Amino acid sequence: MPGPPIYIDSSSPPAYPTSIKRKKRSEGGFLKGHSCMHEFSIAYDIYATARKAATEHGAREVRKVSVEFGEMAMASPEQVSFLFGTLIEDDPLMKGASLAVSVTPPLSRCTCGYEGGERFACPRCGGLPELVKGKEILVTNIEIEVSDE
Ligand SMILES: [Zn+2]
Repeated sequence: MPGPPIYIDSSSPPAYPTSIKRKKRSEGGFLKGHSCMHEFSIAYDIYATARKAATEHGAREVRKVSVEFGEMAMASPEQVSFLFGTLIEDDPLMKGASLAVSVTPPLSRCTCGYEGGERFACPRCGGLPELVKGKEILVTNIEIEVSDE
């Protein structure tokens, strides 16, 4: 008999989520046409992170992987979901997992103290705010099933 699913709450220690840092990409168009590789590496990071967390928690099966996808991450969530699906196909631990993606809006901060969603011009002083959130891709939660002891 399978036990009840275990929810790993990202807000309680031990600390999950594991941050997936995106490699810095150059401005400009030279990466055009390579977006699949880019999205593949994101999908792979999500897969590897979830798998590691599941293994550490003695998972028999992973049911669901929740991911926060920054709106400014410059990657297609659909593409990443698709690639994630192909990655887990042959993995008995992961193949039943669904990927739940929530897209998070950007957050920027200005030297004048402004904080909000404006990315290109500060509504308070007209300066260029710095993007502090919205580019990252985080595994926030995984739902696993463990074997009975
Ligand atoms: Zn400002």
